[in-house]
Amino acid sequence: MSSEYESMWKELGLNLDAHDALLGVLGKGYTDIYLAQKERPEGMGYFDFVMSEVHGLRIKELVDEKAQGRKIIGSYCVFVPEEIALAANATLVGLCSGADFVVDQVEKYLPRNTCALIKSAFGFKLGQVCPYLETADMVVGENTCDGKKKAYESLGTLMDNLYVMDLPQMKSVQGRDLLRHEYDRFKTAVEELTGVAITHDSLKQAIGIVNAKRSALHRLAKLRSSDPVVISGLDGLLANQVSFYDNPARFTESVHKMCDELDERILTNQGILPEKTPRILISGCPMAVPNWKLPWIIETSGAVIVGEESCVGERGNRNLTRDTGATIDELMDAITDRYFQVDCAIFTPNQDRLDHIEEMAKDYQADGVIHYGLQFCQPYTMEAIGVENALEKKDIPCLRIETDYGMEDVGQLKTRIEAFIEQFK
Ligand code: SF4
Ligand code: SF4
Repeated sequence: MSSEYESMWKELGLNLDAHDALLGVLGKGYTDIYLAQKERPEGMGYFDFVMSEVHGLRIKELVDEKAQGRKIIGSYCVFVPEEIALAANATLVGLCSGADFVVDQVEKYLPRNTCALIKSAFGFKLGQVCPYLETADMVVGENTCDGKKKAYESLGTLMDNLYVMDLPQMKSVQGRDLLRHEYDRFKTAVEELTGVAITHDSLKQAIGIVNAKRSALHRLAKLRSSDPVVISGLDGLLANQVSFYDNPARFTESVHKMCDELDERILTNQGILPEKTPRILISGCPMAVPNWKLPWIIETSGAVIVGEESCVGERGNRNLTRDTGATIDELMDAITDRYFQVDCAIFTPNQDRLDHIEEMAKDYQADGVIHYGLQFCQPYTMEAIGVENALEKKDIPCLRIETDYGMEDVGQLKTRIEAFIEQFK
């Protein structure tokens, strides 16, 4: 990425040396993992471009939006409704948390045995390397797992614009009421931030934009179920990752364009991999940019990933929001109903997630499931045992992986994954 953006990064308060180092690692990882793949769809060129400009052009767009009075809201979780931000003329961006940074400094704020995702959020703040975080007028944290809930108390001491959203832990009537209440509170906070009153029309329009984005991702997901395979799991994951910070309308158009190309591949039987390539479903913790370690190991071990049961994947985007409400209240109800279906492992009990994993394994013709748990993530690593048991009963092989963002365990993981995949050849 060129230094033409240097003054912008400086004005945002980034630590330029540390930021350069981060971009260097990101660029090399991207070249080695993504650009090294063969027979990628031409449509991935758009996503390559977005990634090459992830801290450049996209940030400039956000800075320009701010200059025109638009507010930027950063979020760490798929429970934060983009519809509400858009309806108040604000932009919602996901905050990555997919790489380790200044771990020594982070461990002054967090215990060592905190998951890599939470540590990463602190590392990006303490290391002053995330232009999205520094561009945001409001950063939304949410009370999902205990780790995040307590970490936001400390993160709040490092920034003056943190807004904490409470979330239910049970799918009960009371749980839904809490979520609805919290979305009303969030709506008011966003209106105060932007000075824009959300109307029925603006909310309905925002729901349409986000539904269109999710529908495009559904189309891509469906194409990934084809046999032979027409797109790699790494590329499918990247599209999902980019959905968190790209302009939604432009993103939707680019995904459809690529899907047209994939349709053509199916029509002409131009698979990128031979039939009978082992097909893997990933399930578990979200994989934020640039966390590509596990997919890269799987896809360089002779298998292909056909879907992600993950917040950066189908758990995050699977349901659309009803847009038929005649009042703001009804639309807010529809938003609450849509998000209340997200089956994050923070919920108890969470049978819906087990059912969903089985359903995905069937729909995507997966030979096996690899459950991805981040070390020290209690909700997902505990639920992994239930997932494995449920899949075993259906004769679907499952491999439980626990790892972090470090590269020390790559060799060991590769050995286990290759042995798991071998049974499908
Ligand atoms: S896994 Fe749970 S806490 Fe994490 S982004 Fe998804 S919904 Fe939010
Ligand atoms: S990965 Fe697990 S521990 Fe970490 S933030 Fe998500 S739910 Fe919490």
